[in-house]
Amino acid sequence: MIPALVLACVGLALAIWVFGRRPRANPCAWSDTGYRNGRMHEFRCETCGITGFGRDGQVPRVCKRGLGR
Ligand SMILES: [Zn+2]
Repeated sequence: MIPALVLACVGLALAIWVFGRRPRANPCAWSDTGYRNGRMHEFRCETCGITGFGRDGQVPRVCKRGLGR
């Protein structure tokens, strides 16, 4: 016999877990500057005005906006 309260708690925890793992949309608008450093491509974030490097033509995964200038 499993109390309904326990089932509700497990369901809620599962829902939070699934929701929390959902990847967030990247709000940054990256544009390729054309600069290459080996396999790293330089991109500029049009949203934040900073530059970052992405590997093999992929946009940077994170924006360094919060790491200072
Ligand atoms: Zn950005």
